[in-house]
Formats: sequence, structure tokens, C-alpha cells
Amino acid sequence: DWEKREMSDSIGRLLIFVNPNSGYMKGVKTFKEKVEPELRKKRIDFELIITDGADHAKNIVETRDDLAEFNAILILSGDGLVFEVLNGFFNRPDHWELLHVLPIGIVPSGSGNGLLSSVFASRKFPLKNPAFMNKAIDLVTSATCLAQPVNLIHAQTRDANYAAFLSVGWGLMADIDVESERWRKSLGSNRFVVGALIRCCNLRTYRGRLSYREHTLSDDSAHSPFAVFGRTAAEKLRDCTCNKPGTSRRNRSEPATNRRNEDIWLTAHSIEGIPPIDEKIPDEGWTVIEDEFVGVYAMAASHIANDGPMQPRAMLDDERIYLSFIRKRDLPSRASLIKMLIALEKGNHLKMDFLKWVDVSSFRLESLTPGKGRIVLDGETIGADSIQVTVSNYRTAIIS
Ligand code: ADP
Ligand code: MG
Repeated sequence: DWEKREMSDSIGRLLIFVNPNSGYMKGVKTFKEKVEPELRKKRIDFELIITDGADHAKNIVETRDDLAEFNAILILSGDGLVFEVLNGFFNRPDHWELLHVLPIGIVPSGSGNGLLSSVFASRKFPLKNPAFMNKAIDLVTSATCLAQPVNLIHAQTRDANYAAFLSVGWGLMADIDVESERWRKSLGSNRFVVGALIRCCNLRTYRGRLSYREHTLSDDSAHSPFAVFGRTAAEKLRDCTCNKPGTSRRNRSEPATNRRNEDIWLTAHSIEGIPPIDEKIPDEGWTVIEDEFVGVYAMAASHIANDGPMQPRAMLDDERIYLSFIRKRDLPSRASLIKMLIALEKGNHLKMDFLKWVDVSSFRLESLTPGKGRIVLDGETIGADSIQVTVSNYRTAIIS
């Protein structure tokens, strides 16, 4: 019968999350009008989940026992939902294996799609809409698409461990991101422009301590892309000999912490050798700045959005963090901040003297006026006054 024939003809199966609330709130429409017809044409099966709120996608990724039966997870949203899905993975006992064989595809439907923009920039794919979105749809519905390994960073607060792929912000840029969310539907990504103008005019500064260790690891290792369709994640796992590196709980003394997602901490710790966040950082090898800051912004990838090449040098598989910060004492005027945000569109902001930047392998940021200022990780508020961030040897795979 026809239904059965269609099933057996399929080249693969996607688990699809659509956030109806991100960007201009057109995710569902985009899916129905542009993505679904292509999936049917290319004989790609799918299960569609329209998320009903924060953590919906995360909970599904955490608990589904048939996740490996899919070829990939497809997300129609901004960076926020990708962050959720990724951190959902880390609450699974099989996360190490799955993460490397179950890639993530993204159709940019959020107000900020920094991860996909960074991946596209590295591939010299178009970044301007509508070409940006159309190319993304072509890719994820192509029988021959590949998944590109992307290095993750590890973030630790007093309560939890996180895997992240994009950014850590505090002060100016974090405030702009979160406070402009109310204009999401009416302005889409222009919400950042309005938010930036308001925030620059009513400038806030924050007292904090920023400690960092400069990047020294020299061999940024390259990893090969792999085919998405043809074999499911489970089939890929059966055929590969990917072993978790020497970080098993049995073999090494582990830091006595009680945070969520302990495994992320274990591998990050194994390549960077930093103390847990509630312990003092070593006296040697670290630079410590205690001052009044306008903001701190660290990147793991190149683009914060399709029109925001924040750290153009950043590569997908390099093991470093691109840290930048603005101290109040260095800032000539508020107008210079607006100039900086305009220059960001072409990547020219890095030429401005008051914006300091350094490549690091780890840093710790402590707000010295707790409760004031928020820390934003991959665009999501995490409700912490301090955070430390390190490179890790975790990778996710992004379809491109
Ligand atoms: P944007 O780029 O527009 O900010 P994101 O992908 O970052 O879009 O999503 C923002 C937030 O929306 C995420 O924190 C996610 O948890 C949340 N979310 C997911 N589904 C829903 C929903 N149905 N309603 C409201 N928020 C949702
Ligand atoms: Mg967001």
C-alpha cells in the first residue's frame, strides 16, 4: 500500500522542533510553506514538534529513548533553542556518543542565528536574507548534505555546567539582547538596533573581576564532516569506534562538585586543568582585572548574527575563546559605543581602542555587585552572578 511504500522509500528521518515564538514568529509558516514540501519531495520522513515553551525541546531530547533512530535534529528557531537541545543532550547517559553522530540542522527563524551564521561564513555561503534562509532549507532537505563538527565551550556557574557554542555576555551586549526581547515580533533582528540605542543612551556600568588565561594550545585539531542521511545515528554508532577520551569517572580523580551536568565539567577540566568556580584561581599564568566595566563579551564562533561578525578570525574547530571587554575608564563617550555597534556590521569594531580583546583558553567573570547585571550564555539568561568558561573537547555537528 502507498503509505508503506512511502515509508520504505525514505532516505532518512528528522526530529523537528519549531519554536512558534522566535524571531518574527513565522517558524510554523516557514515550516509548512517552505520546509515540509521539500521534505516530502525528497522523501525525508519527520516527526514535528511545535514547542510550547521554554525547556520543552530540552526535555524531549533528554528523555526520548529512540533519539538514535533519527538521522538529525532540525530546529526552526534562533540560537536559544539550539542551546536548549544541546544541553538536553548532556543530561543523557549516552550523550558523548550521540552528540557526535546525531547532527543538528538549523533553519534560521530566530532574531539571532549566530551559530548558523558562523557556520555559513566559514563555508562562504550567503548570509543575507532571503538567500540565507533559502540556502539553509536547501541544505537540510538535500539527500547529500554533510554535518560539520563544531567545537563547544564549557561554562560553569555555582549551580550548573553548560555546553555552549556561541557567546558569553555580561553588561552592555547582554542587556541589549535580553531587554529587546519584547520587540521580537514587531522588529525581528532590528530589535537589537533599538535596544542598543536605548542602552547606549542610558549607559550602565558594572563592577566586576575578570580573570583570564591566554590561549596557548597550539594544535587546533580539524575534524571531518560526515553524511547526514543514509544511516541513522544508531547505525553510525554501531559502525564507529569512537571512544570517550580518558575522562572516565573511574580513571581519574574528579573535582568534588555537585552541579548539574557534571560530565561536561569533567572533560573541560581534563584539557584545561582549571579549579572549580568556587575555588581560588592559581596565582600564576592568569591576568586579573578588577574594575568598572561597560561590558564583557566572549565568543566561541565568529558571528553573533548574520549581520554581526563579532570575531571574524574565529573558526569552527579551534580550541580557543575570543574574549573582549570595555572598561569604563577607556570609553571616550557614549557616541563611541554607538559607532562601535555600527562598525560591528562590517567587523570594524575591533579597530576601536577602547574595545580590548584577547584569545584565551579560559576565563572567570565575577560580578562584584551581585544582582546587578546579567550573564547571558548563547543569548539565554542563566541567572548567575559569576561564571567561568573553558575550551572543551566536546563537539556537536551542524548540517551545512
Ligand atoms: P530568538 O532568536 O528570537 O531569541 P530563540 O531560539 O533564541 O529565538 O528562542 C528564545 C526562547 O524561546 C528560548 O529560550 C526557548 O526556550 C523559548 N521558547 C521555545 N518555545 C517557546 C514557546 N512556544 N513560547 C515561548 N518561548 C518559547
Ligand atoms: Mg535568543
